[in-house]
Amino acid sequence: MLNLKLPSLFRQQGLIGGSWIAAGSGKTVDVLDPASQAVIGTVPDMGGDETRAAIEAANKAYPAWRKKTHAERAALLETWYALMHEHLEDLALILTTEQGKPLDEARGEIRYGASFVKWFAEEARRIGGSTIPSPTPDRRIVVLKEPVGVCGIITPWNFPNAMITRKIAPALAAGCTVVVKPSEFTPYSALALGVLAEMAGIPAGVVNIVTGMPKEIGNEIMANTTVRKISFTGSTPVGSLLMRGAADSIKRLSLELGGNAPFIVFDDADLDLAVEGAIISKFRNGGQTCVCANRILVQAGIYDRFAEKLTERVDAMKVGPGTEAGVSIGPMINSAAIAKINRHVEDALAKGAKVVTAKPNLPAGSQYTAPVVLTGATTDMQLASEETFGPVAPLFRFETEEEAIAIANGTPFGLAAYFYTESLKRAWRVGEALEFGMVGLNTGLISTEVAPFGGVKQSGLGREGSQLGIDEYLEVKTFHMGGL
Ligand code: ADP
Repeated sequence: MLNLKLPSLFRQQGLIGGSWIAAGSGKTVDVLDPASQAVIGTVPDMGGDETRAAIEAANKAYPAWRKKTHAERAALLETWYALMHEHLEDLALILTTEQGKPLDEARGEIRYGASFVKWFAEEARRIGGSTIPSPTPDRRIVVLKEPVGVCGIITPWNFPNAMITRKIAPALAAGCTVVVKPSEFTPYSALALGVLAEMAGIPAGVVNIVTGMPKEIGNEIMANTTVRKISFTGSTPVGSLLMRGAADSIKRLSLELGGNAPFIVFDDADLDLAVEGAIISKFRNGGQTCVCANRILVQAGIYDRFAEKLTERVDAMKVGPGTEAGVSIGPMINSAAIAKINRHVEDALAKGAKVVTAKPNLPAGSQYTAPVVLTGATTDMQLASEETFGPVAPLFRFETEEEAIAIANGTPFGLAAYFYTESLKRAWRVGEALEFGMVGLNTGLISTEVAPFGGVKQSGLGREGSQLGIDEYLEVKTFHMGGL
């Protein structure tokens, strides 16, 4: 059982119109602790009816929420933010228990998640508009920004807190109301956020949370014409399905989808900095993030030294339950994740790659996987074209800058890319040549609430965070006043 300071943060019901409810069918879904494989609890397996009710609740709450001043909405968001910090330890424990990441990383995610709430509370006050000089003397033209309306928010399991706040905070700041469908693997972090939203005094119906298996909920969100926007983070196939589903009623869309991040180390890189960056970018959350380095491209002159240093660091990693001190790699989310990692490694080994890391002591249980460095990776291997989403660092050798750029861009995805060089000229050349929404030069960390986050190509549409993030939840109304 979860040992929380505020036990009511652990909710096993959905939130619709200010009421905590079960599924009409009485059906539930079990939620597992990935570390122990024990059932933590259940959540209602909601379907179309509950989703419709949640959308209606959001629509009912919308006029009053939209009418509030920006300062009033900001004040409520600020209170919500303060509560997230006050209950940080409980939120982190809930997160680690359902998701598996080390507790320190979970604490980091709660701080990161909360940072969006603060940021967009501040941005709420800066939703402006503009005036346009009129082509005729009897007319004035004003551009107003208005909330989009009811938003459907669908989020994944790898960041069960931050992927939600990154969407809800700008939506609420803009004056929208929301129906959230968290991942069926990690619903409790979302429900805890719902409890805190209530405590903060955010009115009933502004934030609704429907839990359970995705299909029926997703179908209702797509089909319901009251929903004016869908914001989704998850896989490209589901993003594409939602885009098709949103087409009938021409909904707005924000999609943050899969990546296949290259991490390029040039001969002239600062080696220690590059190794540090690779550790952060590759192994955070056990490699289960969409901006994780997936392909590490290393120039021939520095390849062996980089491989050796990275291997030393990886050999020192401890694998175990996220709640255990000193653990840097927790359990993977589920058996499908483990199966994909194994398939990628076996395919790479069959095609000539070598594991250069030592065999670590893994705790008992099939949910753990060893962090590995693979040398001799080549572009015909599965791990070159698919996201492994695990602690596997394949090192590809390259000779020239042109070759590295061609390999890096040789993917239908375009979320994050990283590269290391000490040359200013190369920094600009490569930075401009990479076809990605986010590029890190000499850093493995690109996630912050102050900077735009999002991808190009099949990695998605729109940007989250930053000054741009709130625009995703605003419509532009051009107001022409004639006959003056
Ligand atoms: P991941 O590989 O990160 O689990 P998914 O795209 O499968 O990515 O899941 C991300 C979110 O999308 C989860 O909340 C999941 O329940 C939801 N989802 C999956 N299938 C559908 C669907 N058909 N309609 C709506 N949401 C879906």
